[in-house]
Amino acid sequence: MQDNTKRTWAEISLNNIRLNYETIRAGLPKETRFLGVVKADSYGHGALRTALMLQEAGADYLAVACLDEAVELRRGGVQLPILILGQTPARYTRDLIDWNITQATGCFADAYAYSEEALRLGGTLKIHIKVDSGMSRVGFLGTGDSFDQSVFDIIESCSLPGLQVEGIFTHFAVSDCEGESNEEYTRAQYKTFTDVIKAVEERGGIHFQIRHCANSGATLSYKEFALDMVRPGIILYGCEGGTKLDLQPCMRLMTRICAVKEYAPGTTVSYGRRFTAQRPTRMGVIPIGYADGLHRAMSNKVSFAVAGKKAPQCGSICMDMCMIDITDIPEADVGTEVEIFGRENSIYELADAAGTISYELLCAVSKRVPRVYKDF
Ligand SMILES: *Cc1c(COP(=O)(O)O)cnc(C)c1O
Repeated sequence: MQDNTKRTWAEISLNNIRLNYETIRAGLPKETRFLGVVKADSYGHGALRTALMLQEAGADYLAVACLDEAVELRRGGVQLPILILGQTPARYTRDLIDWNITQATGCFADAYAYSEEALRLGGTLKIHIKVDSGMSRVGFLGTGDSFDQSVFDIIESCSLPGLQVEGIFTHFAVSDCEGESNEEYTRAQYKTFTDVIKAVEERGGIHFQIRHCANSGATLSYKEFALDMVRPGIILYGCEGGTKLDLQPCMRLMTRICAVKEYAPGTTVSYGRRFTAQRPTRMGVIPIGYADGLHRAMSNKVSFAVAGKKAPQCGSICMDMCMIDITDIPEADVGTEVEIFGRENSIYELADAAGTISYELLCAVSKRVPRVYKDF
């Protein structure tokens, strides 16, 4: 029998994702659509399983980063509309049309290329216009001197015969950050976005069916920005950093002690000898390392949950293993389960120690780590 819990595994609670979906949805106006972001394998939780669950739970739309992610969902039977947030080369327009996928479009050159391809194929491509309101990444630049040219380009794009323009959206840079200047910036982004929409509607006589901008941060903190659809990712997976909603963690990264050693004081541990035992130490070896997604930057800075207690991680994290001090946890032994993060051990503490955010730790859990679907 296949035992997926013999080394290191990630327990995923689809039910908790569903509960989070329902909690978020309950705070939205009834008519607001819900797009669930399932890019990067649903932040490590499994894109197809998550997408099928969201479809069943009543979500309206899904978003992914790229064509391959979208096709994986279609092949798996997902029927909800799917928006690709990133760019797709125009030579793949046939795939976009055949799989009924919506493409984000952030400049006139792309819009033109998609339209030409669609015409050549005798079809139409559904697109959402992407506005850059201050993220300075992709999109028609709506700020400063670029405003009028972008409004013009959007109107031109919307008039192309090979395209069906269904929506328009933008993305916030600091909607999840506290403080006055962040709030000011977010409100300015929103104003830029809605000003662009207004100008396109007035000058071009164009109406957008779905206007959306609210990522997780804005869905939580700027309810008035919900417009026609919200577009959260991380809060579906239970990470929010604050305490605004009662969200459930959805992934528990688990491993099992595979060896126990006793060391005399003065013994140094692991590569670089960055840890020295200060007392007679019972050291557990756990089979998880940076190749599983445990960032080496956390070495010597974190602890993990063992039998309801905290075991400090000691010495450099190796590729496939690392060590934990279980001197004060005598019940811990070979075979004992260790929670790296999830229910008992905070993912935020680990992220802080690694100098990163919860998103990156979730996405870092590598292909080698089997996902075990199990509610907790
Ligand atoms: C990733 C992404 C989201 C979701 O962001 P969260 O912070 O996880 O809610 C929404 N919109 C776009 C364009 C994205 O790239």
